[in-house]
Amino acid sequence: MKALVLTGKKKLEIQNTEMPEPKANEVVINAKYAGICGTDYALYNGLPGSADAVPPIVLGHENSGVVSAVGSDVTDLKVGDRVTVDPNIYCGKCEYCRTARPELCDNLSAVGVTRNGGLEEYFTAPTQVVYKLPDNVDLKSAATCEPISCAVHGMDLLNIKPYQKALVIGDGYMGLIFAQLLRSYGVKSVDLTGRHDDKLAAEKEKLDIDRVINTTKEEIPAEYDIVIEAVGQPATQEQAIEATVKGAQVLMFGVGAPDQKFSM
Ligand SMILES: [Zn+2]
Ligand SMILES: [Zn+2]
Repeated sequence: MKALVLTGKKKLEIQNTEMPEPKANEVVINAKYAGICGTDYALYNGLPGSADAVPPIVLGHENSGVVSAVGSDVTDLKVGDRVTVDPNIYCGKCEYCRTARPELCDNLSAVGVTRNGGLEEYFTAPTQVVYKLPDNVDLKSAATCEPISCAVHGMDLLNIKPYQKALVIGDGYMGLIFAQLLRSYGVKSVDLTGRHDDKLAAEKEKLDIDRVINTTKEEIPAEYDIVIEAVGQPATQEQAIEATVKGAQVLMFGVGAPDQKFSM
């Protein structure tokens, strides 16, 4: 089978590799879609994601596919099931896992980071992180479950009320997901910043944004109760703080460089 293998820093190769065999609690998934995320770009450049990726490794932590084989102990999934994967596999035993903070797990392994992911024809995952798709979710949409889930977790950390005025900083992929989530959580006023008029105009129309702000030529008013930063640069992190009213909440979602600083 074919696999896109990260063989070193900034080195990707298509290789012919062995079909993976499932362990007792694992399934083999015939990959159909895999997203490429900012984390993949970091891993490609030799930086850590949720954990270190040690080459040779196959990336693709945002993925979907069809179960093609099941391990001997698997009872809840069968060949032909359409699935997506939560890439993060927690140990369940460390202090963080046992105090209900598995995202801080000391022994994290991750599909597409520490073990092979969806950028190959077949990959394995333990059933604890494999989710069967409802019939109304197509496989392409399903590959977005992981990034949307990250955004939903961020939303869960905020105290959101319908009457708040919300701003999303950055109209990249995650920013646009946040704008839609704010609406679906019932927030009445949702504004969005970006840097390109055409793109912003299309997003305003398509996603029912109240006001779009092109930050290359407009100031962001300091009038927001909720600000979601979805870029991860010092300049936009500072914008997020400055856009607030008293008592506001800021979600710093964008991932910056490890040594990055911003003032507030
Ligand atoms: Zn990702
Ligand atoms: Zn753990």
